Parts: sequence; structure tokens; C-alpha cells
Amino acid sequence: MKVMKFGGTSVGSAARMKEVAKLIIGGEQKIVVLSAMSGTTNSLIEISNYLYKKNSDGAGEVIRRLEQKYVDEVNNLYASEEFKKRGLEFIRERFDYIKSFCNNIFTIFEEKVIVSQGELISTGMFNLYLQEIGENSCLLPALDFMRIDKNNEPDTAYIRENLTALLEKNSGHDIYITQGFICRNAFGEVDNLQRGGSDYTASLIGAAVLADEIQIWTDIDGMHNNDPRFVDNTKPVKDLSFDEAAELAYFGAKILHPTCVLPAKVNNIPVRLLNTMDPKAYGTLISSKQCTGRIAAIAAKDNITAIRIKSGRMLLAYGFMRKVFEIFESYKTPIDMISTSEVGVSITIDNTRHLDDIVDDLKKFGTVEVDKDQVIICIVGDLVAESKGYAAQVFDALKETPIHMISYGGSSHNISVVVDASDKIEALRALSAKLF
Ligand code: ASP
Ligand code: MG
Repeated sequence: MKVMKFGGTSVGSAARMKEVAKLIIGGEQKIVVLSAMSGTTNSLIEISNYLYKKNSDGAGEVIRRLEQKYVDEVNNLYASEEFKKRGLEFIRERFDYIKSFCNNIFTIFEEKVIVSQGELISTGMFNLYLQEIGENSCLLPALDFMRIDKNNEPDTAYIRENLTALLEKNSGHDIYITQGFICRNAFGEVDNLQRGGSDYTASLIGAAVLADEIQIWTDIDGMHNNDPRFVDNTKPVKDLSFDEAAELAYFGAKILHPTCVLPAKVNNIPVRLLNTMDPKAYGTLISSKQCTGRIAAIAAKDNITAIRIKSGRMLLAYGFMRKVFEIFESYKTPIDMISTSEVGVSITIDNTRHLDDIVDDLKKFGTVEVDKDQVIICIVGDLVAESKGYAAQVFDALKETPIHMISYGGSSHNISVVVDASDKIEALRALSAKLF
């Protein structure tokens, strides 16, 4: 069994959906995970924002625009009058449902139901198209097997048990279609795996059925060795280890959601990043194999805040770090990077919701300085201590860039540096020029 996930742009129009159909027809049995058509989740959130403010006219306006877009796509997608009619009926039903939220109380529960409609619509439309062209496909409702627990972590035992049962009940199909992103929570309510979570769905399904391979199809030919928006002539990285891919996804490579790597790694299932625009291209293969003797890629994470705590009390003291970390823990704020000396510690965060409180609490322990608009640049590859010379090359490339923090040795495949946002593009270009 193979799992194939197609993102929002890959199913962004009737024409693109037809291309996806060509890619999934034939070969071994597969589970196909779809995102909502591109832009839809954003529109559904916009609708919800109007409804929170009790502005049903505003919501109605966005709903009408979105519905019209779907009506047009339905007319382009199906060939026969019969399927056009069925498609339009399906769209009307979904949109009548969305409209039914307009004059009632609106809370986070209703929002999650509205936001789930994007994936329900794309998969319903696509499965109907497969029926029209005579494919033996079947829709598996994600809300019947995908679940998160009380800590918002996937309930892997539940997912495996229920997905297996659902596949058995619906055995004998060549293609199973399901929704990315959406799930139920521990209370059985409709919920989701956070923005961009369809990759996570694919990986959780791959792990649950012990798939041979998880394929993530987007509109770029794999993970590039630097950010193509800022650096010319970047190239796809052919092979990455799970750990390297996790670092790159977390530190800025937009092509893959960071949570997606772990379920695949734990079950040793290769993940392939492929391009719907160029399906023959090799893309990127993420597996347990560690390539040696090379720097794989560079990524940058924006909107980083650095917090520097200087304290004489740190000198020769034990327990100081614990007290500092406990403050971040108490505000549920993850730390990205740390760098220490005997009299100070620097920490970066990207979630600044509780920044003022954190800084206030840290002042008990020392002098606190905050630098906003920082960027973490992360250089990933085979950087074990035996691979001499890479660190020197990295810093040589960055000799014109003021560096605020350095982290090396936390893992054997990552050097991270913190620079001002205004120095980011220059630094990315310099690194590419030196390292590739
Ligand atoms: N449709 C969701 C989003 O836009 C999930 C996804 O596309 O992965 O965030
Ligand atoms: Mg995505």
C-alpha cells in the first residue's frame, strides 16, 4: 500500500484535479490524501471571523464568492450532464450547511466545523470525478478514524484500529480517497491537525497501515538546497535522512510540514517529495539512510525573538538553567535555540504571545535584553565531528554577516546561527555560493 498526498495547489482547479487523477490511476492499491483547494481554508477562516463578529452579511459575501468558484470548477470537472448535476447538488448541500451557521451563536466549535468543509468538498468532488471516469475508488471519511487526544497529539492506536477496520469493511477498491487536515478530538468534536496539517495526515496514515512509501505531491520538485524565493539556481536535494528533513522542515523549508517526519521515521517508511508539474522528476527521498560527506541544505526561520539573560548568579551555580527553562514551560512557550556562556544564556522563541510575562519573570534572575526581528539560519548535512572543515566553510561564508548566536553540536547534522532579519537574504546567498 502506498499513501499519496496532494496539496491545495495540486487540487486547486478542475484541470489540476484531472492531472492528479492521471497520477493515481493504475499500479498498486493506494490511499490518496487531499487538501482543500488552494485558498479555501483561508476563505473559511475569513467567513468564521465575520461570524465571530456577528457580521452575517460579510460572511455571506465571502460564502457567495467561494460557492461561485466551486460551481465553475464543477462545470469544468465533469463531462456528462448527469455528473455535473450530481456535482452541483453536492456543492449546494455543503454550502447550504456553511450558510446555516450564519444566524446562530458562533464559537470555536462551529469554526472548526466550517474550516473542515474545504477538505470534505475537495475529496467529495474528486471521488465523484473518479466515479465518472470509471475508477474503482472509495471515500474514507477522515472523521471516522483520525483522532487527537487530550494533549492534541494523534491517538495512533485509535487511528490504526479504526482505519484498519474501515479498510476491511470497504475492501476491494483500487483507490481510497480521504481528507487531510481534519480529525476529531478526544471529545469526539470536529477538530484539525493545524494549518498545513494534511502532510501530517498522510504520514499518520502511512504509519497506521505500514505503507511502503508516503508520497507528498506539491508544485516544486522536492526540497531545495536553499530558499528559491531569495537565492538563484537552487537545486532539489535528492536524498535526506529523517533527521535532516525534520530540521529543514522545522527551520523553514515550506514544502513539508515539520510534524510529518516523526511518524514516518518511527515506522521507517520512506517519504518522497514529488512535483505534480513534473511527475517524472526524482524529487527528494527522505529515509533512514544518512548521506555522508556533504552539506545538504540551508533553511531560514523568520520572526524569531532572541532573549538574553545575563547574571552573575549563574557563575558556578547549579539549577540556574532549570529555573530559566521553567519560566518558558509555565507559559507553554517552546524554545528553538539556546547558547550559553558562564555568565549568560541566550534563548530564541517564535511564539511571542507571553513575551512580556516571560521577560518579567526572567528579571528575577538577571538582566534581560530582547532582540526582535531575528532569523535562524540552519545549515543541515553530515556535520559529525569527523567531517572536518564544514564549520569553517560556513563561517567563512558568513564573514560579512553580524552573527548574534551560534548553535553547533546539538545534533550531528545541524549548525544554526541567528542573524538580523535585514541580513538574511545576503547570508543565504553567501552560504549557497560557498557551500554548493
Ligand atoms: N487545508 C489546510 C490548510 O490550508 C491543510 C493543508 O492544506 O495541509 O492549512
Ligand atoms: Mg502544505
